Amino acid sequence: MRTKRVERYETIADLRASLAPARRAEHSIGVVPTMGYLHAGHLELVRRARAETDVVVVTIFVNPTQFGENDDFANYPRNMERDLALLRQAGVDAVFTPSVAEMYPAPLQTAIALKPLGDMLIGTVRPGHFTGVATVVAKLFNITQPTRAYFGEKDFQQLAVIRRMVADLDIPVEIVGVPTVREADGLAMSSRNVRLSPQDRVAARVLSAALREGAAMIAAGERDPQRVLAVLEEMIAAEPGVLLRSLDIGDAADLAAIATIDRPVVLLVTAMVGPVLLIDQQEAWPKAGREESR
Ligand code: AMP
Repeated sequence: MRTKRVERYETIADLRASLAPARRAEHSIGVVPTMGYLHAGHLELVRRARAETDVVVVTIFVNPTQFGENDDFANYPRNMERDLALLRQAGVDAVFTPSVAEMYPAPLQTAIALKPLGDMLIGTVRPGHFTGVATVVAKLFNITQPTRAYFGEKDFQQLAVIRRMVADLDIPVEIVGVPTVREADGLAMSSRNVRLSPQDRVAARVLSAALREGAAMIAAGERDPQRVLAVLEEMIAAEPGVLLRSLDIGDAADLAAIATIDRPVVLLVTAMVGPVLLIDQQEAWPKAGREESR
């Protein structure tokens, strides 16, 4: 286990000043944006960044602009001391923990809205969410000017939004997607899982189980997305603790709707489990498409 000093920066000016020597020396900089309350999924992103870049910066910022009015900003779990201890063990170089006032000294007049990518799928369940995400990530990119930035595939649409923003705006950063880290029973790790009651925690298993079932149907030759979705809806509806909010199959490349499963796809689910909004994803390959597409 590595233990080294990890510097915490709370202002944009201090973080920029600390990264200036590394930039002058042409060291690569890896950034891992998070909202904190770290778990093994976040630490996998950090591990990748540590392995692939010279200087690793983790940002911890619960971004109010990506939460809706009835959303869970106030209840979002936070534990800065624990997070800093985990990042010290993981051997990161700098942690950026700005206040809301530091990031938004005045309400922004500028927003990055992806149309239609940010409005579709989970964007219909969480209006404005991806505009908040894209805008804050663009700010974090401008603050850290990273060589590479690491994002989880768990938030598949978010990853697609960031990739598209970077391409559209010519932001000079390489986006790295990292596979979803799961609990032993399949539940995708999430900071929000801590808010599940023991009963809800058991019920939540149905989401990853349904996604696996969908991927298995597709791998076995099912080509009709509606038939896959119908089976999954039934599975999830049979779990009384889970309220399905969205369930979709899209083209894995751009999330576009598809009429026939003839290429790599992604299954995306959002559901309320007790008071908690959970999301999960699973990629799937049609029977004959897998070899040539990977
Ligand atoms: P969050 O703190 O939830 O905003 O997540 C910060 C980053 O960690 C995002 O890029 C997420 O996609 C990623 N992440 C969250 N949970 C997981 C997980 N279970 N496996 C892999 N990456 C994750």
